[in-house]
Order: sequence, then C-alpha cells, then structure tokens
Amino acid sequence: MKIRKNYILAPGPTPVPPEVAAAGAWPMIHHRTPQFCAIIKEVAQGLKVLFQTQHPVYFTASSGTGVMEAAVANLMSPGETMIVLECGKFSERWSEIGKSFGCNIVPVKVEYGKVVSPAQVEEALQQNPKTKAVFMQLSETSTGCVLDVEAIGKVVAKTDALLAVDGISGVGAEPCYPDTWGIDCLLTGSQKGVMLPPGLGFISVSPKGWKAVEQSKSPRYYFDLRAYKKALDASDSPYTPAISLLYQLKEALKIIQNETMEGMWARHAWLAKATRAAVKALNLELFAERPGNILTSIKIPAGVDGEKLVKTMRDDLGVTIAGGQGSMKGKVMRIAHLGYMDRFDITTAISALEIALKRQGFPVKLGAGVSAAEEILWEDPK
Ligand SMILES: *Cc1c(COP(=O)(O)O)cnc(C)c1O
Repeated sequence: MKIRKNYILAPGPTPVPPEVAAAGAWPMIHHRTPQFCAIIKEVAQGLKVLFQTQHPVYFTASSGTGVMEAAVANLMSPGETMIVLECGKFSERWSEIGKSFGCNIVPVKVEYGKVVSPAQVEEALQQNPKTKAVFMQLSETSTGCVLDVEAIGKVVAKTDALLAVDGISGVGAEPCYPDTWGIDCLLTGSQKGVMLPPGLGFISVSPKGWKAVEQSKSPRYYFDLRAYKKALDASDSPYTPAISLLYQLKEALKIIQNETMEGMWARHAWLAKATRAAVKALNLELFAERPGNILTSIKIPAGVDGEKLVKTMRDDLGVTIAGGQGSMKGKVMRIAHLGYMDRFDITTAISALEIALKRQGFPVKLGAGVSAAEEILWEDPK
C-alpha cells in the first residue's frame, strides 16, 4: 500500500501539538486529591488568560454544545425572551436550545455569509424591551464570518439584557475582551482554538450574568453552574472531571501563555490573510461578508462539483477541509487555519486545492495560490 500522509484543516477537531497529545497518556490520579487540586488551580488561572477575563472559567466534560446548553439553562427561565443573531448553522443552534427550554425566541436573521449588524440588534431590542438576553457567535463557523461583538456589546449594554457569546471557534483565534465588551457569558470548547482533543467545554459568567444564574427557573442538573462555582472555589470539580483532558489542557495553556494571546491572534490573522490571497490568485471568491481568522470560506465556482472536490482532497490527497453545512452543502468549502497551525499547513492546503481543482478541469495555474500565500508567509506574523 502507498504511504499517504493526512493533514487536518477542518474547523474542529484541529491538530493537537505533540506535547499535548503525550500529556494525555499520563496515568490516572484520583481527582479528590491535593495533587489534582493543584492541576485545577493551574488550569483555572490559565483559562482566565485564554478568556481574557477576571471572572472564573468553569470547565465541563462535554463538547461545546454542552456549555451552549448551560448558558441557556442558567441565564434564561421558561417564557423569557431571547434574541438570537441567526446567520448560520451554529447560531440556529442557540434558537433550538432556547426552544427546548421553553424560551420565547426572537431571531434576527440574515442570509448565510452575511452578519447581523449592531443596528439590527438595536432595533430588535427596542421592539422587544423585555428581552432577557442576546445570544450570538464570536465566529460563525458554518459561514466563516466574524461578528462585531464589541459594537454589539455596546448596543446591548444600553439595555438590561445580557449578552451571551458562543466563542467555540473564535476564542484563541479572534480578539475578544469579555470584561470590557460587556459580554455576560462567554464559552468555548476544547477541539478548536484550544488545540485539545474534543471533550471539554469552558464557560465564564459576569457578575451581572450570575444574578440570572441564581434566579433561573429552568430545569438543570449536570449543567447547573452553581455546582461548578462551589467546586471551583475550592479548586475542585463537582463530578468526575475528564482527567486526561485536563492534563492536556495544562500543557496547551502553557503553549498559549508562551505565545501570548496577542501572538495567537496575530498568527491567525497572518494565516487567514495568506489564505485569502491564495483564493484571489486562483480566481475564486470568498463566501463571507466579514471573513474571520479561524477559517476561509470559499464559493464553489461554476462547473466544479463542491462535494467531490472536498472528497478528492480528503480521500485521494489526504487533506481534510470542510464542505458546506445544510443548504450551503456543495456550494462552499471551508479551509480552517485554527489552533495548532503554521505557514506550511496553509501551503499544503492550497496546493491540494489547486490539484483537486485541476483534476476537475477547472482552469488553474498550478502554484499560483501557493505563490500568493508565500508572498505573505515568507515573513513572520507581525
Ligand atoms: C463547533 C462549534 C459548535 C459545536 O461544538 P461541539 O463541540 O461540536 O458541540 C458550536 N458553535 C460554534 C461556533 C462552533 O464552531
């Protein structure tokens, strides 16, 4: 059999650094011990740096959707109104969770690839003065858009409403300052910007948000944040934590603190810029109105079979990128530059894209995209 190397450039799970992978192999230690408390103490500190917050960051053994559910269950009570900025598959998930918890959903909807503007949020808040909270994404992974959380935070801050932000793909890759931007609840998962395998959720709540947590009448047990607070105050966890993932988190947070958050954001911006330059050089079009730094979404050009393109890249060339979700299936491809990634991840992905396009007869000058990317990547990120 031929040797074929695999490369993953999907927006989660993302590649795991070798020292993080190795940390997962450490033997079990019991979680109710001073030794494990020391690990919790260390990661609790590192998570505040990752989140750029003064408030505690709680961790759960779940994927990111678990902490999305935690946000709804702890901030909202049945019958209360939540405004959801619907601009992709993941923002639609906020509405689905809200419905399951009996909330009154007010969607502010735009076409896939576009973003909800601060003015639209302002209008929705004026029309729904009893709104309990606004739910949005930092980065809408299904379309590749980054939202203007800072500007929307200013609009929400003029009202009594809370602001909850799903940063599952954005945290680590896109600048985000929850404490100064008026974010009352920020959350992320482990398998994207945090460079871990899947299985951990992270969530922080502002003091204003915490009042809602105390008052919520929603049914909750595993994701009742009051239990997580009580435990974390004692450097403990309420239930058996994902011990191996926490060993790995400790390593990942060391890497993050060494690079610094500013360094992480600059690296992601640099990789994104190079990818966009390659797209342009290949005469392809960006899909996102406000392209973010976690992934580049590209329109599938006429005459190209989008699903086949992604399949050729993955199954024949060993390069996994993502296709489009839902109604975007076959119409978009998404190349992630998220987490543990460097310049040659980008040149590899672009090279594979050129080959896959050529195999479908799309007019492509081999190397044109790679060359454009290298014009950005030959220097280090600023
Ligand atoms: C990946 C992702 C999710 C879903 O997270 P899971 O870990 O798959 O539950 C939700 N929101 C955003 C923005 C994402 O990128």
